[in-house]
Amino acid sequence: MSEAPIDGSVLVVNAGSSSLKYQVLHPATEEVIADGLAEQIGESTSRIKHWYRGHEVVLEGPLADHDAAIAAVLELFAADGVDVADSGLAAVGHRVVHGGRSFFEPTLIDDAVRSEIERICPLAPLHNPANLVGIDAVTALLPAVPAVAIFDTAFFHDLPAAASTYALDAAVADEYAVRRYGFHGTSHEYVSRKVAEVLGRDLTELNQIVLHLGNGASMSAVAGGKPIDTTMGMTPLEGLVMGTRTGDIDAGVVFQLARVAGMSIDDIDTLFNKRSGLKGMCGENDFRAVLQRVEAGDESAKLAYEVYLHRLRRYIGAYMIELGRVDAIVFTAGVGENAAQVRADSLAGLAGYGIEIDADRNAIRSPDPRVISTADSKVTVLVVPTNEELAIARQAMEVVGQTP
Ligand code: AMP
Repeated sequence: MSEAPIDGSVLVVNAGSSSLKYQVLHPATEEVIADGLAEQIGESTSRIKHWYRGHEVVLEGPLADHDAAIAAVLELFAADGVDVADSGLAAVGHRVVHGGRSFFEPTLIDDAVRSEIERICPLAPLHNPANLVGIDAVTALLPAVPAVAIFDTAFFHDLPAAASTYALDAAVADEYAVRRYGFHGTSHEYVSRKVAEVLGRDLTELNQIVLHLGNGASMSAVAGGKPIDTTMGMTPLEGLVMGTRTGDIDAGVVFQLARVAGMSIDDIDTLFNKRSGLKGMCGENDFRAVLQRVEAGDESAKLAYEVYLHRLRRYIGAYMIELGRVDAIVFTAGVGENAAQVRADSLAGLAGYGIEIDADRNAIRSPDPRVISTADSKVTVLVVPTNEELAIARQAMEVVGQTP
């Protein structure tokens, strides 16, 4: 192939501790050119699932680290005749989980920005170090392509102080940057804007509750396009019940487990982040499996599902009060887009508040944004598939466009 087949597109990278998700797409046309996932990096069982223009390849074999994973991905492109380093790629957009107090705009990555992302790693020890490894690995192999960091916290930077401040000794909070930052911001922003588009309304007129329900889960209250509250806090541990995370929990549990059970801080961190949530309560973090077990009458799965719903409904109620008037409630991410039962159960019995789901509309499976409330429902309920890659690609492109 002699033309530049990815000319003008953006490579979006989401690096986890042992995984690397990527997509090559055109932000303007929304065309996805390539999509892939490298998993179990650092183990002998690594594999890469790589999709390029309609055909998929699976590569199995050890990948020592993220550098090896990126090199293997670039070879997969090369096998299709694409030299990624020399095909007119406009930018690389890196998802970075925590921007701390320093970053709240998409930011061109240079040495100073890289150092600052490293400095704030203690705020997100499970995420930012992995994001940095991804940045370094891609930069080493594609040094000439501008790299942009897009922060998951950015959308929530201007949360009202009442929502972002913990009731903690103010000097301690200030010294250690302890505040509520919020996460999944790229998704909450993308979805809330899409709602305005779908409804043909001005974003600034709409009050929305956005439920991002995936393996990680968060909710936000968005007034006129600006978030006024969100469920995640200093870290992505706070708020809703998640696949493996506790969500809200009394901080006193930490003292109890340390003093009485003799657990170390690292043990408790792992317990709360990896062994709790749905998985901790019933052994499953895949929501499909939880629902199947609920259906089969399994008691621990039923309780886990009830705890999950109880937390969701508590926050929906809180955000209705905070917003005063709600125009739209919108479901997104793996569970929100696919689990009709969760949508129905989370808004059941709220007709008195003007919220009514239409059972037939709710049952429709579709990749498109759609309204699932009844014609009479005062509040419009929607399902809007999120597209964080597209949002990241667009933001990366804007930054590159502004670069002199
Ligand atoms: P995400 O983190 O957005 O990729 O979402 C992952 C979660 O979505 C997992 O818990 C999946 O079990 C869940 N999920 C995906 N498809 C379905 C489905 N059809 N019904 C229920 N949950 C689903």
